Amino acid sequence: MVLRLIRVYRVQEVTMQHCDLTIIEALDGLNKREFTSKELVQSCLQRIDQVDGEINAFITVTKELALDQAEEADKLRAQVKNLPLLGIPVGIKDLYCTKGIETTAGSNILKGFIPPYDATVVKRLKDAGAVIIGKLNQDAFAHGSSGENSDFGITRNPWNQDYVPGGSSSGSGAAVSSGMCLAATGTDTGSSIRLPAAFCNLAGLKNTYGRVSRYGVIAMASSLDCPGVLTKTVEDQALILKIIAGHDPLDSTTLANEVPNYLKSLRVGRRTVSGRPGKDIKIGIPQEFFVEGIHDKVRELTQQAIERYEKMGFAIEEISLPHTKYGISTYYILCLSEVSSNLARYDGIRYLASMRKGDTIEDLYLDTRGQCFGDEAKRRIMLGTYALSAGYYEAYYDKAQRLRTLVKNDFNEAFKKVDIILAPSSPTPPFKIGEKVDNPLQMYLSDIYLVTVNLAGVPSLNIPCGFVNKLPIGMQLIGPQLSEELLLQVGYTYQQETNWHRKKPEIASLAN
Ligand code: GLN
Repeated sequence: MVLRLIRVYRVQEVTMQHCDLTIIEALDGLNKREFTSKELVQSCLQRIDQVDGEINAFITVTKELALDQAEEADKLRAQVKNLPLLGIPVGIKDLYCTKGIETTAGSNILKGFIPPYDATVVKRLKDAGAVIIGKLNQDAFAHGSSGENSDFGITRNPWNQDYVPGGSSSGSGAAVSSGMCLAATGTDTGSSIRLPAAFCNLAGLKNTYGRVSRYGVIAMASSLDCPGVLTKTVEDQALILKIIAGHDPLDSTTLANEVPNYLKSLRVGRRTVSGRPGKDIKIGIPQEFFVEGIHDKVRELTQQAIERYEKMGFAIEEISLPHTKYGISTYYILCLSEVSSNLARYDGIRYLASMRKGDTIEDLYLDTRGQCFGDEAKRRIMLGTYALSAGYYEAYYDKAQRLRTLVKNDFNEAFKKVDIILAPSSPTPPFKIGEKVDNPLQMYLSDIYLVTVNLAGVPSLNIPCGFVNKLPIGMQLIGPQLSEELLLQVGYTYQQETNWHRKKPEIASLAN
């Protein structure tokens, strides 16, 4: 299987290495003893050496630790002690606490912070045998859509380094698509798993709120944050979701619902999606997403994907999500209010960064926060505090909460008519580095198709659906609460019929 793939990829003029495999393929190779986990990890480390100087996906590479963990995995495999991710190198967004490994959230204010514990997701990945290869770059505190808000330098898109990889899980998208790790964790508060997945040609699933534990993930906006992963394929998503999902006593907002065997149910395919014949699956197309502002090519590629589903026997129906136009403003009131509250803990006392220049406690706050937070965090603290203050609360925060209910009702109504919704992930292809950085409003608008999903708390899966000028385009499949199984099945069906997800970026430094 692995050898056959190597031949296929040579045709595409990309020399296939172990690090270019999907998780499912790598596990196959490991189990057949075609290569060891140590070799697999070395292949990722070599790729990091070759390309990360240009891409800047990693803040920390845990080379020694990864090689030790890989050796341990090889020993376990030799003893036939198998685990679902045994020996698979995974990158961790720097928003996740990792025991003994510096965790910065992409911000200077947390530089030097070494957590004494692992986030639940990290612990579950490690318990499943995954090898932690490093910590990934991101927009500071996950504020952003482009990766340009990091205090550790911008991350570049492996598909074209003049372009952004999408944010805020910018390092995660860039690392997985360029083979520096086989999967990476991300967080999606408004878009941050799906947008980098779309811009880097990956599968990225924003789970139902509460499906995956937030424990140990540095908080952005607690009522919206959804941890998850970016992977090369839908199959890999299904494998990992089973491992990371489920109730966590350390996060009281996690759901107790049973976690299905997502991978197993993929194989059932479209014939029996949800126990019904595939042709009974109705896909809704929201008319509000195809209005002014959408790039022609994005519209065309989404249309082609819709036609492909129709050919496969899925029923297509136009639907309406009438409050979509309020999505961005509602999201930015609620998100920023929560951000302003969650960032209050960085006060110069609790964490390392501390500017003790003045005499008073107020000086300590002002100096530390003034010097260590970036512009975007400050902007959000000011706007969020304003929206929450007496006299404005009713006009902004309260009103936004009401709108959130209306947005949620839109989805509830739509799911009475259709099983899932298909829509573009971004109105435009990836944009150029620097193009939107001075215009926060323009930047916020790149999430226009994504944030309503977070307001409603429902799941949404980004999968690749084509290219514009060699830059990837993604679409999202949105479903009702806890419909991850269905979304993965429908996404997998598409990936069996198409090859977009198989394409690899041509990175200049690899050709030399
Ligand atoms: N781009 C959005 C924001 O900046 C979403 C970020 C996220 O999902 N973490 O708020």
